[in-house]
Amino acid sequence: THIPDGAQHQTPAMRQFHTFKQRHPDCVLFFRMGDFYELFYDDARLAHKVLGVTLTQRTKGIDMAGVPYHAVDGYLRRMIQAGYRVAVCDQVEDPAQAKGVVKRDVTRVVTPGTLTESSLLDDSKDNPLAAVAFLDNQRVAIAWAELSTGAFWVSELHENEVADELSRLDPSELIYSQTATNETPPRAQNLLQRLNLTATGRPGWQFHRTETLELIRKHYSVHALTGFGLRDDDPEIIPAGAILHYLHETQQMGADTPASLAHLQPPKRFPRENHLVLDEAALRSLEIVRTTRSESEDGSLLSVFERPDTALGRRTLRRWLCYPLRDKNTIETRHAAVEALTQTPRLVDALRENLADVQDVERILARLTLGRASPRDVVALGNSTAQAQAINDNLTDQHALEPLADQITRHADALNHAAAIITERCVEEPPPHLREGGLIRDTIDPELDEARSLQRDSQAWLARYQKQLVEQIGVPSLKVGFNKVFGYYIELTAAHRDKAPDDWTRKQTLKNAERFITPQLKEYENKVLHAESRAVEREKQLFDQLCTEIITAAPALRAFADAVAELDTLLCFTRTATRHRYVRPQLTDDATLDITDGRHPVLDQILRDNFVPNNTSLGGSQQPALALITGPNMAGKSTFIRQAALITLLAHAGSFVPAKAARIGRTDRIFTRIGASDELHTGQSTFMVEMAETARMCHHATGQSLIILDEIGRGTSTLDGLSLAWAIAEHFATRPEPPRVLMATHYHELTDLADQLPDNVLNLHVRVREWNDQVVFLHRIEPGTTDRSYGIHVAKLAGMPPQVVQRANQLLNALADQHAAQDIASVAKPDTTPHAETEMPLFSRVLDHPAVDALRNLNMDTMTPLQAFDTLRQLSEQA
Ligand code: ADP
Repeated sequence: THIPDGAQHQTPAMRQFHTFKQRHPDCVLFFRMGDFYELFYDDARLAHKVLGVTLTQRTKGIDMAGVPYHAVDGYLRRMIQAGYRVAVCDQVEDPAQAKGVVKRDVTRVVTPGTLTESSLLDDSKDNPLAAVAFLDNQRVAIAWAELSTGAFWVSELHENEVADELSRLDPSELIYSQTATNETPPRAQNLLQRLNLTATGRPGWQFHRTETLELIRKHYSVHALTGFGLRDDDPEIIPAGAILHYLHETQQMGADTPASLAHLQPPKRFPRENHLVLDEAALRSLEIVRTTRSESEDGSLLSVFERPDTALGRRTLRRWLCYPLRDKNTIETRHAAVEALTQTPRLVDALRENLADVQDVERILARLTLGRASPRDVVALGNSTAQAQAINDNLTDQHALEPLADQITRHADALNHAAAIITERCVEEPPPHLREGGLIRDTIDPELDEARSLQRDSQAWLARYQKQLVEQIGVPSLKVGFNKVFGYYIELTAAHRDKAPDDWTRKQTLKNAERFITPQLKEYENKVLHAESRAVEREKQLFDQLCTEIITAAPALRAFADAVAELDTLLCFTRTATRHRYVRPQLTDDATLDITDGRHPVLDQILRDNFVPNNTSLGGSQQPALALITGPNMAGKSTFIRQAALITLLAHAGSFVPAKAARIGRTDRIFTRIGASDELHTGQSTFMVEMAETARMCHHATGQSLIILDEIGRGTSTLDGLSLAWAIAEHFATRPEPPRVLMATHYHELTDLADQLPDNVLNLHVRVREWNDQVVFLHRIEPGTTDRSYGIHVAKLAGMPPQVVQRANQLLNALADQHAAQDIASVAKPDTTPHAETEMPLFSRVLDHPAVDALRNLNMDTMTPLQAFDTLRQLSEQA
């Protein structure tokens, strides 16, 4: 913001504004003035643009815009969603008590990654704040914390993996260290380019090892971090400390009051190895939480599931789908629970009824600890914990759900106690804000009761007093009223103003009325206002006391929240499984993928009975690990290979799967290479991306990985593409421990690979029926290869002139004969020694022709179109 000359001559309030603006230069400043938050200068123009609020001019051409204080949350949310950070400057003393300008201070800085208010947060999504620190040797340390729940994780990984891990985490904000000159260093720049998120540069010193270590020790009051499973010289300390620093700063808490972040758990190392790896490409192309086309949740894997009943469950469902498991026992615990629930629909209903009353315990607990809980939060917490007993009762006798029941039982006393003190002390329908009063029930606290009865009595007194005055001066329209600025008054209409007795003091003159005060009324005012503020004050004390008591039950509440989150997600799996006829998959230790009548979970719900189920049988001791799927466009190849990947993913997330039966070998990673056709126009660079992704598979795929490849090699010339696809397929298929690979391709030549490597490669094709010259896609995948001419059939259907169709068929037959003579299979013998220097006979053989040589030697840059035509004629005569 440009501070105009003469700012020092401005009003004291504006001088305050400039001070805070200087302290928070990268924030939009919401400056409280009376009933409004005002924005000035650039901020005002921004608010006009982003929030659509009216721009006005203050004196001396200062732009200004304001939002009413009671609606501030909505405006804050829109600012944050638009990617801005907001500093909220409040009046920190009662304006009535202020001598001179009212004292103000920035009470918090609201940023996308540090939100806690339910009105600012999407309750179906985690809201992590992440930090990244670049180390030597291409290593990177990351940390992420969730202020709204208290989770805090760290991890250290290779620079190549960071973008993938962060895409999956999807943080709301990422902080990184700037250079000494406040610039973004190249490594950070590279990373940010690949991610689409709000990034906040921080001063470099906040990423210094000693600073960060010191801050963490101080925050958790520990001497060493060994208790957290971290060593003092672990690099993860750096981003973790930077996060703590940022939280302290944005929550406006000096280092002397670290207790208010007490719900933030100590940083723990994230067990990456426990999870099936899904990189950015896989997350995107499998459309797990959003579709690639519309970026929306509709049509994603997530949307396949019935909506969980609690916010806790909604967040967990999303997490389980993005972080499938690898440990067979843990996965099977989930499968067993879903199985038990699918067999007891009545239990499902009962539990769902219990969950209907469970609110967002996790986030309420965080707000409690931060001192930001509302009366409604506390009452909601009481209602939630009150369900613990009922949930537990429902869970007993269910062997598969025992771990969850245990988790609640262990904390039953603390939970019951929390529920009891809340329901005992608080009314059922609390006011939204404490300042309105009326949260604590009567008869709980004598002091509060006394203040309240004083208030009530005096209301009756007020009515009596008005009646008495009306009788005294004989004016029925006389009113006793209250106004925020002037307090209590007696009002006479202008016509009657002379009837006021002498001992009334004139207070305010309106157009049609006159307002007075009497000593008696003044005394009453004192008493009432005092009683009111005493009641509010006392209620605040009681509320704080209650909050403190509840916080002592934090571990119990957290365990309860976790149990509910898990239970709700399992119920959601169950409901979807029941509704859409999913089955329990069997996890195996051998690398198989054996699906009977599998369905694509999303298309299955859209097409219902019209969806054609298909079998997949891959790997293990019986089957080749690699299958090639050929078939015309739109036949269902992509659907088939994606469905295999999605079923594998679902099984590892603990869900049932859309199939008649499924045996799935434990999987460490799902790789995808799916070339979206709309990517094609970007040309060369897309091909680079395709090759980079494929190269990564070659390096990282293991015998436990699943790979799906759609039209690999499409981004380059046919021969290049075919050769690459062949070599890649051969590479995977001939490994001693091959990954499971499903490869959809339009290169029919590739199917010859199965003849050469019958034990390693399986041919599948999509069946197409010809019926009275019509081509019908049956979407049925069957063993073997396919006829090649459907492209021409489709062209015919599309209304291509008969001569063209006929000519195309003629050419096709000629080409097919030629192909038979120069079969790619005859030149590409299986390469069993992958590292040997083998010549590629493919190119020389196919391209070995004088015409080709002549073409190679042409200098196109110096030729005229006529010369080019002549050369072409000569070549065609030679050929
Ligand atoms: P390809 O990859 O062979 O070009 P897709 O997998 O994209 O074909 O499928 C094209 C369309 O065919 C899909 O959008 C879907 O509407 C339909 N389809 C695919 N597989 C099936 C199936 N098994 N049952 C019914 N319809 C299907």
